[in-house]
Amino acid sequence: MSTDRSHQAGKHRVVKVLKFGGTSVGSAEALQRLAGIVTSEAGSSRPLVVVSALSGVTDWLHALEEEDTAKRQQVWMRKIVRRHQSLSHEILDHDRHARYLGRLADCIEQLRDVLRWSPGPMRSHAIWASGEWMSAPLVALFLEQHGVDADWVDARKLIRVVESASGSWVVDRNQTRVQTEIWFHRLPSTRIPVITGFLGSNSQGRVVTLGRGGSDYSASLIAEAVGASKFDRWTDVDGLYTADPRKHEEAGRFLYLLLEDATTWNEANQLGMHAHAFEPVLHACIPVHVRSTRHPQGDGTLIMPGGLPKRVEKDARDLMDRTRTAM
Ligand code: ASP
Ligand code: MG
Repeated sequence: MSTDRSHQAGKHRVVKVLKFGGTSVGSAEALQRLAGIVTSEAGSSRPLVVVSALSGVTDWLHALEEEDTAKRQQVWMRKIVRRHQSLSHEILDHDRHARYLGRLADCIEQLRDVLRWSPGPMRSHAIWASGEWMSAPLVALFLEQHGVDADWVDARKLIRVVESASGSWVVDRNQTRVQTEIWFHRLPSTRIPVITGFLGSNSQGRVVTLGRGGSDYSASLIAEAVGASKFDRWTDVDGLYTADPRKHEEAGRFLYLLLEDATTWNEANQLGMHAHAFEPVLHACIPVHVRSTRHPQGDGTLIMPGGLPKRVEKDARDLMDRTRTAM
């Protein structure tokens, strides 16, 4: 990242990407925790927020996509609308709630339109992406209510995807970097963007989703593109475990991992994150911190690139040792 850019736009503040998964945006309590984390981060760094759809919504969109009668589609649509309506009603003041309902109505109208398209990847992507199009504006309005200069951003303009004729896709990392850099350059330095995870667009501007769990990949790509100092992955589990701690009592938490190892293990599907999640941050040497919104003070799992300056690595190891002795 050039000093120029951090000087002009970032005012020397450290840029961090904060990614919140579905459970971290899926309820009023979770959103309160998110707002606390973002406002406190904003005091010391320049956060860029990336969000998933509200927990469960992407599953509902998948179910909706498979229904072939209007009547059955209507059942899912109602469920999706009610979920967003009631959460926004619970957390937003009168004016912001009204603004959000306008946004939600636009999304739903677009979704109804997409449902009429003939089946194929284009239709599927446009249906699946709706969850993030509905969550990001909600999170942004809620942050705004907390006095944050927040606005939601459609990642179609940041992340460029190239599709093959067979329907498979790959992210064009160079084009993504260029588009995201230009956008970041123009972003007012006080603004905290709330970016839709999980999606990008092809050269025609059509939405393409990045696969289940894809918001981690989005956050990683954005961190690389803006030259972030850190990628905080906020979730409701306090780090990465050797197995799913909800299913395996003996599962142990990793306190410290080398980014190189995490990348390899994740590619072998051992960490349960999106297959490409670590590629961009590994390339850009950006530390990843997996943290729980329920215990924001906890150590979580720190994933550090190898070959870092000694001091940075020492801090990470000290943190790990402190946790060990405390247990
Ligand atoms: N909403 C998408 C999913 O459920 C992307 C994500 O959460 O990372 O897979
Ligand atoms: Mg998720």
